Amino acid sequence: MIWNKEYECMDRDNLRDLQLTRLKEVVRRVYERLPFYGKKFSENHLHPDALKSLEDLKKFPLTRKSELREGYPFGLFTAPLEKIVEFHISSGTTGKPVVNGYTRKDIQVWSEVMARALACAGTTSKDVVHNAYGYGLFTGGLGIHYGAQLIGAKTIPISGGQTRRQIMIMQDFKSTVLTCTPSYALHIAEVAEEIGVDPRKLSLRVGILGAEPWSENMRKEIEVQLGIDALDIYGLTEIIGPGVAQECEAKEGMHIFEDHFLPEVIDPKTGKVLEEGEEGELVLTTLTREGTSLVRYRTGDITRINYQPCDCGRTIARINKIKGRVDDMLIIRGVNIFPSQIENVLLQIEEAEPHYQLILERKRGLDELTVELEVSPNTFFDEVKRVEKIEAKIEKEIEDALGLRVGVRLVESRTIERSMGKAKRIIDKRKSK
Ligand code: ADP
Ligand code: ZN
Repeated sequence: MIWNKEYECMDRDNLRDLQLTRLKEVVRRVYERLPFYGKKFSENHLHPDALKSLEDLKKFPLTRKSELREGYPFGLFTAPLEKIVEFHISSGTTGKPVVNGYTRKDIQVWSEVMARALACAGTTSKDVVHNAYGYGLFTGGLGIHYGAQLIGAKTIPISGGQTRRQIMIMQDFKSTVLTCTPSYALHIAEVAEEIGVDPRKLSLRVGILGAEPWSENMRKEIEVQLGIDALDIYGLTEIIGPGVAQECEAKEGMHIFEDHFLPEVIDPKTGKVLEEGEEGELVLTTLTREGTSLVRYRTGDITRINYQPCDCGRTIARINKIKGRVDDMLIIRGVNIFPSQIENVLLQIEEAEPHYQLILERKRGLDELTVELEVSPNTFFDEVKRVEKIEAKIEKEIEDALGLRVGVRLVESRTIERSMGKAKRIIDKRKSK
């Protein structure tokens, strides 16, 4: 189902005209309202009038997360403070938090793009949306909520946690659409089994899963365990929250709502804009936001872009599943690797369960990676030889697939911590030494 055919299936020339009109306004808005943009533009001898075509955007400077942190708490709004009706504030674990301020119109835009996202997954007013994304300052919960309300679906604002209760509610209210992180979806399946409920017999039809990287093989695993279609959703607090891009039922990339968010993919090292299909860092410009407008914001997320029309009828571009964040790339003895690539290999292995952690240590001056992986409950840990054999086999599979030598340590079922939200895949022990 297409929520807004006029925009999602727009002729691309018309779309580009619309983008340019909006872009000119945004560039002027940030230049006039935010001193730090004014300064950056001047340093590059640029004025908003220099933007005459979409291609001209390349000349404008990129924006980094650290610059947004400087504006905490009220310094980055591109609308007067009295027009702001909602704040979202990032967790700020790695520095000062980043704030996004929404006007009423921004909330309408968010509801619109989230309605489109839900509709990409076939959601209609008949559906029961079981929303297990966290409500609060995290954008996941409210973002889904606004979209589901606009569609007129029956929303269950359950948030994360209390998994047994979630399953009871899913059974009683016949939830059809599950929204949460992929790792929490798996945990729901696991707990259902534990309490004697067959997760495949729930009424769930589709999952709208995101907020963290997950591989194709993780998708298969979730689809089998829950008996659903598992679709990917992407977004980030700085831009709007979830609803920047969403996979349709074709499962061939996430449609990016280009009339609201203008994408570019750059080489993260040089900042050069890459061609369609080349892998790099996603850069986004908001085209319709009032409260927090951003020009050329570096998301830190690695993907590719595809402008070919999709089988579903949408003409808006698609981005590939996110490989990971630039910051999460591991360099192990010269091999660059993202956790999602390791996950994809692990989940092809028969004995492996979809629960793992990557332990990073420094030994004799070299970085070493150990994969801790849960195995099915019927693996006998007292048979040391057998365990070692499986570990060696998995080590070999990873080396064959990725050219990377890592250690594998099998651990017993349920020893790796489960997450209600974003799973923590990397345990970095290098800094503590
Ligand atoms: P935080 O930076 O604190 O995690 P957000 O909750 O705004 O803040 O998370 C946004 C980030 O989450 C994105 O920049 C991206 O790295 C990750 N993310 C969101 N959706 C996806 C997805 N579908 N696949 C991979 N990563 C995702
Ligand atoms: Zn599509």
